[in-house]
Amino acid sequence: MTNSKLIYLDNNATTKVDDRVVEVMMPYFSQYYGNPSSIYEFGGKNANAIKDSREIIKDFIGAKNQKEILFTASGSESANTAIRGVLSGDRSKNHIITTKVEHPCVLNVYKQLEKEGYNVTYASVNSSGELNVEEIYDAVNEKTALVSVMYANNETGAIFPVEKIVEKVKSINPNTKVYVDAVQAAGKININVKDTQIDMLGISGHKFHAPKGIGALYVKSSVLLTPLIIGGHQENGRRAGTENVPFIVGMAKAALLAQEYQNVEDTKVKYLRDKLETGLLSKIYNARLNSSASIRVPNTTNIGFEYIEGELILLNMNDIGICASSGSACTSGSLDPSHVLKAMGIPFTALHGSIRFSLSRYTTEDEIDYALENIPPIIEKLNNISPFQNELKELKRRKGLI
Ligand SMILES: *Cc1c(COP(=O)(O)O)cnc(C)c1O
Repeated sequence: MTNSKLIYLDNNATTKVDDRVVEVMMPYFSQYYGNPSSIYEFGGKNANAIKDSREIIKDFIGAKNQKEILFTASGSESANTAIRGVLSGDRSKNHIITTKVEHPCVLNVYKQLEKEGYNVTYASVNSSGELNVEEIYDAVNEKTALVSVMYANNETGAIFPVEKIVEKVKSINPNTKVYVDAVQAAGKININVKDTQIDMLGISGHKFHAPKGIGALYVKSSVLLTPLIIGGHQENGRRAGTENVPFIVGMAKAALLAQEYQNVEDTKVKYLRDKLETGLLSKIYNARLNSSASIRVPNTTNIGFEYIEGELILLNMNDIGICASSGSACTSGSLDPSHVLKAMGIPFTALHGSIRFSLSRYTTEDEIDYALENIPPIIEKLNNISPFQNELKELKRRKGLI
């Protein structure tokens, strides 16, 4: 059974491209298709479009000058470029600190670097998803080349105090470089690297209503970066390959729109997220809030439905047109529960039935009302076929429902 309805609550996986973004991109495919590196004006026009876009992205994250922004093809490329780019060099500085809950595009680079001889410290999170920052400070030493901490977690929405962390890390070892994966923060909260000591910061267009396949990396002007992709002189010699002009222009437009809609994130999106969250928690007795961090991005909630199976919940929601996810899109396809929820120590009984709902400025109150009306019966149906009938009964009893 498929449903013509589409209630898209998976905006941390990817977002709808804003029509106004598509509109500004269109001329750069078949009209202004010149190579921005060309001498003639027809190509140079595109160099100007890139320059204007770079200025917008510079302002979007509060960089000081355009040279600090390089365009990449994804958030993953930004992370790989930043991490590899500052490490190549002094092998006596072979220590890295990160968190257990980073995105796979960061974590899997460190898994690889461990094989190459680096020592990596993984800081833990508490049961609310908040980072145990002291573990980072305790681990910094004279060998620490890099600390990388995400700005906001993609599964729980928890915001980590990156500005405070970088300040403290630099006070212990000023030579340690700091990378911030800000992919889930950009477009949801205001990012401003100005007056911080953050060395590098990555964003990705498709998480804030630009297309998939475009990202940016901020590299503080004092930081020496070895390029990951070698070839032509594009991006100041730090990222070879003819620039993806339409996508760069599109991401810049999306950044402008994100700034324009920041108040909508803070008000409407947050209101609808809270309505969905409190509604599900109050209507469903075996629902528990996984993402209870005190500071969160406005659009994300993660709810565990105890004693039932996440994949079944998702399939049943799909039948009525609701899209959400268990874990991150990048880890689905494997049956392993989310590494983030595992790191939080979410009880086994809720780990497999945890669902992330992530909203956007396109989410409407009607959609949230529909979800609140139609998800509880699905959970009730799955509760009835759960192999954990005694446990569910006990939970009901504990909550005073029977
Ligand atoms: C989506 C995501 C990425 C990867 O970005 P891509 O552009 O899809 O490569 C990195 N970090 C976080 C936190 C993300 O949510």
